Amino acid sequence: MSNKKDIIIIGGGASGLFAAIKAKENNPHKSVTILEKQNRVGRKLLSTGNGRCNLTNISSSKDKYNGSFKKYVEVVLKQCSPQRVIEEFSNLGLMTKVENEGRVYPLSNHAGSVLDVLRFRLDNLGVEIVTDTKVIDIKKQGADFRIITNHDEYNCEKIILSTGLCASPKLGSDDSGVNILKKLGHNTAKLSPALCPIKVKSELLPSLKGVRADGKASLYDSDMLIKEECGEIQFTDSALSGICVFNLSSKLNNTKNPVVSLNLLPNYDKNKVIDLINKNIKLYNNQPIENLFTGVFVKKLGIALLKQADVLPFSRKINSITDKEVEALADTIIEWRFNAIKSNDFNNAQVASGGVTGNEIDAYSMESLLIKNLFICGEAVDIDGDCGGYNLQFAFASGIIAGENV
Ligand SMILES: Cc1cc2nc3c(=O)[nH]c(=O)nc-3n(C[C@H](O)[C@H](O)[C@H](O)COP(=O)(O)OP(=O)(O)OC[C@H]3O[C@@H](n4cnc5c(N)ncnc54)[C@H](O)[C@@H]3O)c2cc1C
Repeated sequence: MSNKKDIIIIGGGASGLFAAIKAKENNPHKSVTILEKQNRVGRKLLSTGNGRCNLTNISSSKDKYNGSFKKYVEVVLKQCSPQRVIEEFSNLGLMTKVENEGRVYPLSNHAGSVLDVLRFRLDNLGVEIVTDTKVIDIKKQGADFRIITNHDEYNCEKIILSTGLCASPKLGSDDSGVNILKKLGHNTAKLSPALCPIKVKSELLPSLKGVRADGKASLYDSDMLIKEECGEIQFTDSALSGICVFNLSSKLNNTKNPVVSLNLLPNYDKNKVIDLINKNIKLYNNQPIENLFTGVFVKKLGIALLKQADVLPFSRKINSITDKEVEALADTIIEWRFNAIKSNDFNNAQVASGGVTGNEIDAYSMESLLIKNLFICGEAVDIDGDCGGYNLQFAFASGIIAGENV
C-alpha cells in the first residue's frame, strides 16, 4: 500500500521530534508524519543524562565538537543557541535549571518530562506518528520521494532524515539511516564509538576495578599529544572510564598507537610530588610499603602505583624506599601510561562519531547539498560532541533548523 504525505520525518528521536514540531508549525496546511522503527518515539531520550536528560549546555561552542561538520557548527549554534533551545522548551512548558559546568537539566530531574512536552506538542499540532515502521530505502521519483518501509510505502515531497547512528544498540539504534543516504550518493565518515570507556592493556586493572581518582587523562598517538581532560577517572577491570576519558574516546580511532597517560596529581610538578612522597616516608617510616600513599590515594591505587613503579616486595618497610624508587614513583604518578585498544564496540558508547560528511549539508537549512528537499539532522551528520549536553544541543538545534526550512 502506498500513502501520499507532504513531509515525512524518518526517526522519532531527539532531533526528529523537534524537527516535526517546527515543520508542522511552519506548514500548518501540510501533513507531517513521523516514521519510527521502534514501538515508541524518543526511547533513547529517556535514558539520557542517567535518566535526567542533560538537554543542552550553555557554553556550547565549536571547540566542544569533533567531525567534518565541526567547521559549520557555529552556523547552527548561531541560529539555534543553547538559550534558544531552553526558550523553545520553555514555550512547550518545560522548566529547566543550569547545573555545574553549564549543564542544563529539566527542573523535574526527569528525562520523561522532556519527552512528554515534545509529545504533547506533536499531539496538539496533529503530527501523525507511525511506530514499528522501519525505513528500508528511499527512492527519488520525479520531484517526489518514495519511501519503502518494512510495511507500507510512502510518497512525499520532502524528507527530514533524523535516524541517529548506532551507539547503544540496546536502545534500538543502528546505522540504517546513513546506509540509505550512502545509496543516494552521500559520502559518510567512518563510524566509531565515542563517549565511551577506553580499553587498555594492563595486568593491574582487575585490582583497581571500582577505584575513582581525580586527575588528568591525556590521549597520545605514540608521543604526540592529541587531547587532554581533567576530571574524575574511573577504573574498570579492563578499561579507563569517567567523563574525562569519555571525552578522549572520540579521537581514539584517528590514532595509530594510542596511549592514555594519567596524571594523578596534575596540580603538582615532579619536584613537589617527590617532596610529598618523602614527607610520607618520614611520617609512616615503620609501616609496610603498601601504606606509603596513606592520605593521598585510596589503598588499592597506592598498591597499583607501587607495582607499576616496581617498588617491591610488599614485605618491605617504608623507610627502605630509595631515592631512585621515589623518583620512579613520582614519574608513575604524573605520567602513568597505558597502551589503549581501538574498539568497534558501540554497546557502551553514548554517541557514534562519523556520519554524512559536513560539506554535503547546508548548515543554514540542514538540507542536503546533493538532493533537494532532503534534510539531514542530529547524529546522522558527521559531528559528535563532548559529554555535557552538547550532543542533544546539536540534535535539537539541527532538528529545529531542518523543521523551519523544510
Ligand atoms: C545512554 C545515553 C545517554 C546519553 N546522555 C546524553 C545527555 O545527557 N546529553 C546529551 O547531550 N547527549 C546524550 N546522549 C547522546 C544523545 O542521546 C544523542 O546524541 C541524541 O539522541 C541524537 O539524537 P538523534 O535524533 O540524532 O538520534 P536518536 O535520538 O538516536 O533518534 C533516532 C531515532 O530514529 C529511529 N530510527 C533509526 N533508524 C530508523 C529507520 N531506518 N527507520 C525509522 N526509524 C529509525 C530510532 O529508533 C530513534 O528513535 C546520550 C546517549 C546515550 C546512549
